[in-house]
Amino acid sequence: MNTIPTIETDILILGSGGAGLFAALHAHQANPNLHITIAVKGLLGKCGCTRMVQGGYNVALAEGDSVERHFMDTIEGGKWLSDQELAWTLVSKAEERIRELENELGCFFDRNPDGTIHQKAFAGQTFDRTVHKGDLTGIEIINRLAEQVWARGIHRLEEYRAIELIHSKDGKSLAGVLMLDMQTGQFTLVRSKAVLLATGGGPTMYKYHTPSGDKSCDGLAMALRAGLTLRDMEMVQFHPTGLLAGPGTRMTGTVIEEGLRGAGGYLLNGNRERFMNHYDSRNERATRDIVSRAINSEIRAGRATPNGGAYIQMSHLGPQNVREQFKGMVERCADSGFDLANDLVEVVPTAHYMMGGLVFKSDCSTDLPGLYAAGEDTGGVHGANRLGGNGVANSTVFGGIAGDTMAHWAAKQSLLECNMDEVHASIQAHEAPLNKAAGDIEAVRDALSECMWDDVGISRTKESLLRGRNTLHRLEEVLLQIGVGDIQREYSVTWQDWMNLQNLIQVSKAITEAAISRENSRGSHYREDFPEPGSMEDSYYTAINLQGQSLSIENRSVQFTLVKPGETILVET
Ligand SMILES: Cc1cc2nc3c(=O)[nH]c(=O)nc-3n(C[C@H](O)[C@H](O)[C@H](O)COP(=O)(O)OP(=O)(O)OC[C@H]3O[C@@H](n4cnc5c(N)ncnc54)[C@H](O)[C@@H]3O)c2cc1C
Repeated sequence: MNTIPTIETDILILGSGGAGLFAALHAHQANPNLHITIAVKGLLGKCGCTRMVQGGYNVALAEGDSVERHFMDTIEGGKWLSDQELAWTLVSKAEERIRELENELGCFFDRNPDGTIHQKAFAGQTFDRTVHKGDLTGIEIINRLAEQVWARGIHRLEEYRAIELIHSKDGKSLAGVLMLDMQTGQFTLVRSKAVLLATGGGPTMYKYHTPSGDKSCDGLAMALRAGLTLRDMEMVQFHPTGLLAGPGTRMTGTVIEEGLRGAGGYLLNGNRERFMNHYDSRNERATRDIVSRAINSEIRAGRATPNGGAYIQMSHLGPQNVREQFKGMVERCADSGFDLANDLVEVVPTAHYMMGGLVFKSDCSTDLPGLYAAGEDTGGVHGANRLGGNGVANSTVFGGIAGDTMAHWAAKQSLLECNMDEVHASIQAHEAPLNKAAGDIEAVRDALSECMWDDVGISRTKESLLRGRNTLHRLEEVLLQIGVGDIQREYSVTWQDWMNLQNLIQVSKAITEAAISRENSRGSHYREDFPEPGSMEDSYYTAINLQGQSLSIENRSVQFTLVKPGETILVET
């Protein structure tokens, strides 16, 4: 075996979304002498979902709002499954982070005429608390964060893909990460005292999905393979209205924003009839999970539009009004050849966010010393459902905390020797498809996305989930047998796709097992055969890990450390 090029650093950050970039800046601020490296699958500042944030950032700032109120909305939105310490950390640190974004990093957010920050309404919240910059909030946040990272001499490994978490020789700690330089196709070992997992989850295994194409649940798959525990994996959030622009375009699945329904837009089925009144008295203004299930039911009942979704209608609100109020959405639809202001546009529910992820603590440490986690790779903050606006707050709040914690840890640690058996075994496994004849990878991807959509999607039954389990098992075997052929390693999209699929299948299996195990319906997880939510007092979350080749799952009781179901921490005034 040839020697592997090795890089040494004090802190290695995997991913450059809100979590990764904030971690880098905080670690540098805490200790400028540390050698900090950000490794990212795409280009720093140009990839991941934080850049795609439209709506905004939840924080209790305005008079009359409070951290306690934000906390209660988060816990109730999460159907009492959140880890309350994590949820409290989120809401109580959100203000500090938004002030840093504005005052230290230079973000411009929209303001009221009196100069205070404008905060808009988002579903599921009892107060208007979503800070935004028009409907391009993520671009503002990521651009400012990236500029500051560039200015501080933080090392960058761009188009470097994390492949495997590598233990220390004694197996007790993390010692480094095996990376693949995607430009050259060569492996590199990065030894580090602290590693942050911030690769951002992302349910891209579903036929319709919103997250960026660079996300394939790599962090979650690596964590599973390293023996770590994931929680709440059955909780996948669907946004009800993704654009249905037909097959073969990445515009399909992208979000048509919630504000359209809020402003009075109608949803129609394929027979051009409004249907939401059959499902909820709030009609189109019902919450995301209810609207997604309703559209799904219409589709399953054979009342779908020609491309298999529903229609959104805005024209009754006045085309000029629609063009003025929803300029961005009108333009997005026009890009795909649709006239939102005058005509019907086809939409479909789209997989948006994974509430589940790696078990972690409020200082961002994990069960493996040396490994830290933040952002969408983590589980426990949102419970069974995430409030719109709590996603980017989560990644930036915990990213900053992780930076502080890692700086402290790295200052007193030395580099550990990597377990080279793990390194060689992983290289062998990842090079295996290069030594096999090219197979039909697209067919595996299509089968995966259909299986997750049909059998592990918005509405689930034991029967569908067991069918999903079998399909995933078969797809994993097929993938391991087919290769990508003896191709060039440089910029090999096909090889990357093979690795993406392997991780997506691994994480899909975890979602499926967790969904089989939860025999009730909470938040984003809906079982047709168990439609009741179960006792709130006896709430449990699912915890899953890999033991040998099999996934092992257990239900763990939720600890109501701050507030119990039926109670509130709000003080009546
Ligand atoms: C269309 C859309 C709109 C949204 N709107 C909102 C909103 O209005 N408000 C809100 O709160 N939330 C919103 N969200 C959710 C929000 O974007 C996420 O919750 C959050 O920003 C995730 O941040 P992150 O840092 O964890 O991950 P990301 O920002 O997704 O970053 C992940 C990073 O990891 C990198 N990466 C992935 N795999 C690897 C690997 N193997 N090796 C190295 N690097 C890797 C990626 O390239 C990327 O740089 C939205 C999401 C989408 C998709």
